[in-house]
Amino acid sequence: QKFVYDFTEGNKDLKDLLGGKGANLAEMTNLGLPVPPGFTITTEACKVYLDGGQEPPSMRDEVSAHLTALEERMGKKLGQPDNPLLVSVRSGAKFSMPGMMDTVLNIGLSDASVTGLAAQAGDERFAWDSYRRLIQMFGKTVLGVDGDLFEEALEEAKRAKGVATDVELGAQDLKGLVEQFKGIVAKETGRDFPQDPREQMDLAIRAVFESWNGDRAKLYRRQERIPGDLGTAVNICSMVFGNLGPDSGTGVAFTRDPASGHQGVYGDYLQNAQGEDVVAGIRNTMPLAELERIDKASYDQLMQIMETLETHYKDLCDIEFTIERGKLWMLQTRVGKRTAGAAFRIATQLVDQGLIDEAEALQRVTGAQLAQLMFPRFDEKAKTELLGRGIAASPGAAVGRAVFDSYTAVKWSRSGEKVILIRRETNPDDLDGMIASEGILTSRGGKTSHAAVVARGMGKTCVCGAEELEVDTKQRRMTAPGGVVVQEGDVVSIDGSSGKVYLGEVPVVPSPVVEYFEGRMHAGADDADELVQAVHRMMAYADRMRRLRVRANADNAEDAARARRFGAQGIGLCRTEHMFLGERRELVERLILADTDAERDEALSALLPLQKADFVELFEAMDGLPVTVRLLDPPLHEFLPDITDLSVRVALAEARQEPHENELRLLQAVHKLHEQNPMLGLRGVRLGLVIPGLFAMQVRAIAEAAAERVAAKGDPRAEIMIPLVGTVQELEIVREEAERVIAEVEAASGADLKLPLGTMIELPRAALTAGQIAEAAEFFSFGTNDLTQTVWGFSRDDVEASFFTAYLEKGIFGVSPFETIDRDGVGSLVRAAVEAGRATRPDLKLGVCGEHGGDPDSVHFFHEVGLDYVSCSPFRIPVARLEAGRAAA
Ligand code: ADP
Ligand code: MG
Ligand code: MG
Repeated sequence: QKFVYDFTEGNKDLKDLLGGKGANLAEMTNLGLPVPPGFTITTEACKVYLDGGQEPPSMRDEVSAHLTALEERMGKKLGQPDNPLLVSVRSGAKFSMPGMMDTVLNIGLSDASVTGLAAQAGDERFAWDSYRRLIQMFGKTVLGVDGDLFEEALEEAKRAKGVATDVELGAQDLKGLVEQFKGIVAKETGRDFPQDPREQMDLAIRAVFESWNGDRAKLYRRQERIPGDLGTAVNICSMVFGNLGPDSGTGVAFTRDPASGHQGVYGDYLQNAQGEDVVAGIRNTMPLAELERIDKASYDQLMQIMETLETHYKDLCDIEFTIERGKLWMLQTRVGKRTAGAAFRIATQLVDQGLIDEAEALQRVTGAQLAQLMFPRFDEKAKTELLGRGIAASPGAAVGRAVFDSYTAVKWSRSGEKVILIRRETNPDDLDGMIASEGILTSRGGKTSHAAVVARGMGKTCVCGAEELEVDTKQRRMTAPGGVVVQEGDVVSIDGSSGKVYLGEVPVVPSPVVEYFEGRMHAGADDADELVQAVHRMMAYADRMRRLRVRANADNAEDAARARRFGAQGIGLCRTEHMFLGERRELVERLILADTDAERDEALSALLPLQKADFVELFEAMDGLPVTVRLLDPPLHEFLPDITDLSVRVALAEARQEPHENELRLLQAVHKLHEQNPMLGLRGVRLGLVIPGLFAMQVRAIAEAAAERVAAKGDPRAEIMIPLVGTVQELEIVREEAERVIAEVEAASGADLKLPLGTMIELPRAALTAGQIAEAAEFFSFGTNDLTQTVWGFSRDDVEASFFTAYLEKGIFGVSPFETIDRDGVGSLVRAAVEAGRATRPDLKLGVCGEHGGDPDSVHFFHEVGLDYVSCSPFRIPVARLEAGRAAA
């Protein structure tokens, strides 16, 4: 097995093996771009190391061979005293984990080689600066020394000299710092800073391997759902120096604006600095556009390289580069993260440029991003108090109480407060605070700062670099230019789309994307903004591509109408229990309490016209489209008063010797209906079988409503759905009764109603006997909520709060099975039921009506198993349409 690849040997498709960074360094090398030579140790080697605590034996020899080749090519040896080759040892996993793992620069410097480097570069300051950086980074990441100790010493040196930035420190100052740093290492670790360059390199490689399992990296992976067993690759890359004076520097850039998708020059540049300085916000960077003034040749070359990369990757790329004395070097590239809005715009822009086709465009966006774009935003007309403005780093409208540290953010959010995390800048230690917050506000750093990158990845609102806001984390307050002070606990609102920061709570309004779906804003009209246009086009691509139809879960005409506007092709689930609430509750009570057939019939006859009126409205709103009506499902006691309340009422009445005959009857009924596990009790089809006339009344209401719509020249397409069926016998009994009622209504109205009758598949037994059940069902609708509960034996209402967090933390679930369908368990039952059902009845119509119908991953699964439609809540419909398109593309 080969564990080491030269940059010339890899390519961008080898991310599993070489990590993203390594694969793309190789790709750039092979494109002929100026990449400092180097090689990559594979993720396989990392896995071996993490499993057994030792590098694979052959890895060391391979590293030696590649190092020798590199030394020959560069004409100098690693750490060679008179002319040292220096390298960086860089982490790089398959998925980018910004700042989560370790990188060490300037490996190869030592007491012996630092003077050689000075002589070669003709710059003593530079050599000592590089050496102190090595000891600092190596000390912190490889030897585990507290980084603050180095920072404090550096601050002290600046203070002693009376200067503000590290570039103002001279060679002698830095030499002094190197001695101090070595002292810190010796004191903290009990050993001297290693002088042998190869030992430095080997230790750094191990440290990078180990950083895969660091706390920050683990937390990040959980958050981003990155598997824990991928491991990281290690890149050994010959050093180029951005800290060689004013004609040197380092920068980061995007090939287009990651927030809007617009083409242009987006990036930050820092003169006379080494890599990490830009991201860390140590000194203020300059906009990339200014590089044109400083070093036009490098700037022009960079622009050309960026264009090459975009055309090659056919996507937005972000890059890291360094200029060493006027010579440009590329140090990293990858397909860049972007906001949800930019993803839609970029996808359509690339189609227009002819770089990608519609199917590919659909792969460039996700349903989650579309959902994000449907979030409300701040009301522009609201009266607001503007505190200041920063960089719009990650969109959204977030309101919450100001907190100034991660610990408080987590604590307050646990107790139900919405918080905004305010920091001067964030670092990986702030991760759990960022997760706990509604939004993040920083006073320093640009679009590529830690806060911005991480927030965009999490889809969290972020405003960064609001420099006019003075953040004092020690005093827990922030001061605005006007002198307004925000204390911990004060409410602030931040707008990640405009960068504005407001005092107090700003009201929110619907997003333009929702306005567009609602039909209140038309794409193509002059005033339609680019985003809406892009969404409009992407939805059209998806609709052209998809095979799955998308229906809505809706119980009333209003929801049905909205669902239609959002593109629903029918109703997949109309729950009838909501029609039994409110003032109708009393009728239901009467039904439940009925002692005689006459009493029961009376209650049912009173309910009939009410139910019928609901259906008439609904069928009218959905004229021409299917409406699946589910007969009554929940346990009856849900319609009765709470047992404790009622007992108290009865007891009180008794004590006061007031009449309480009705309450007592009710209480007896409640007792009688009380169940230990109502979810597994008297509900669904079981109600229809034990309460005479209930289902017949509901079927009659549906049939009469349909007949009325036919008489009104409408086109009702009702379907009758029986819940919680476990065996075909249940269904046969209900079917017989339903057919009789429908025939009666047809005879009375003269209409030919065509009312298909089908069942939910939401019990394991139903799925296992789907072949038999299909004999009596014209359609199946998978109720994946109940099916998940019964397959796992979980009570959803109980377990999500009690132990799911522990399960997620232990990695038993990547995601709750109620959120995304469990393909292996629940999913395989669905698959089997689909096959058995279709075997019995080839034209069996198949759908799903659980929450999973609007979940992106689950939609892909339902596409794969060949369902005809998914049904979800009206607001999820656009997401389901898009994902159904993506699944088919
Ligand atoms: P991260 O994944 O955290 O960005 P990197 O491995 O990319 O870590 O390195 C951190 C910084 O050091 C980056 O700014 C990078 O450009 C810079 N860097 C890495 N290797 C070299 C090198 N060989 N020469 C100069 N700068 C380097
Ligand atoms: Mg990097
Ligand atoms: Mg159910």
